[in-house]
Amino acid sequence: MSPQVLRDPLANWNGELMPLSEVKVSVLDRAFLFGDAIYEVIRIYNGCPFLFEDHVSRLGRNLEKISLPANAVAIGERTRETIAASDVVEGIVYIQVTRGVAPRTHQYPVPAPQPNELIYVADFEDPYANTRKQGVSVIVLNDMRWKRCDIKSVNLLANCMAAQAASEADCAEALFVDGNGRLTEGSRSSLFGVRNGTILTAPLEENILPGITRKLLMQLAKECHFPMREEGLHLNKLSEIDELFLTGTTTEILPITLVDQQKIGTGTVGPVASKLDEAYKKTVNHLANSVG
Ligand code: PMP
Repeated sequence: MSPQVLRDPLANWNGELMPLSEVKVSVLDRAFLFGDAIYEVIRIYNGCPFLFEDHVSRLGRNLEKISLPANAVAIGERTRETIAASDVVEGIVYIQVTRGVAPRTHQYPVPAPQPNELIYVADFEDPYANTRKQGVSVIVLNDMRWKRCDIKSVNLLANCMAAQAASEADCAEALFVDGNGRLTEGSRSSLFGVRNGTILTAPLEENILPGITRKLLMQLAKECHFPMREEGLHLNKLSEIDELFLTGTTTEILPITLVDQQKIGTGTVGPVASKLDEAYKKTVNHLANSVG
């Protein structure tokens, strides 16, 4: 499938609205030199940003984790203004904050440069619209990322390599497995399993991203009265797992039916994932229609 030609997104570059294609940045920006930057992606449904406060809070926590002096609440306000200035109905908003431009030194520059802030609002179409109901195939790869995957840093080369390998294998996603045989998460999604009716997902440690959709999923599981435990899944115990699914801002809830060509459960989309997908869609409809 060839990618669609989309409109030039509306950007907000350090507070100034302009077409994304017109944003220019110095090669001395620390994001370019070191990947010294963090980001967020928020889904827009019916013109409304979904789980906005959760994303802004995570942005704030990430800014703190890397001692980047920028104000997440103010960035959140500019994000809302940018969404309002765009006419995007179904889309995403991307936020990136870099440590700014300074002569190249590994340690953080003193005095701290002005952070560079990029926000853009783009059209987005569900890439899994046709596969969500049937489920997808994934591959498993060694988790070769760094040890602070809780930080939503733009250093995503390992994730890009994994996503590329999945794509070459005609798979929707790559799952990472750590040195102890535990599945951590996907290259761009969180991972859940169902064993004897209980939903399982890896606990929040420094080896995974605290997914916003993961948090919503846990809430929905409670509302649907599904037992849930934060317990990592083992690659060599996948035969005990009845259902497997991914979650993420753009992934939403995506059932997995094949892992490295092996069937999960019956090899079809299971009842727990289906029910949660329904609950997710209800939440989207509720939030997207209740905010003005
Ligand atoms: N893990 C990784 C590595 C990701 O890149 C993403 C997508 N940002 C997720 C999990 C899912 O997080 P969220 O639900 O906040 O989009």
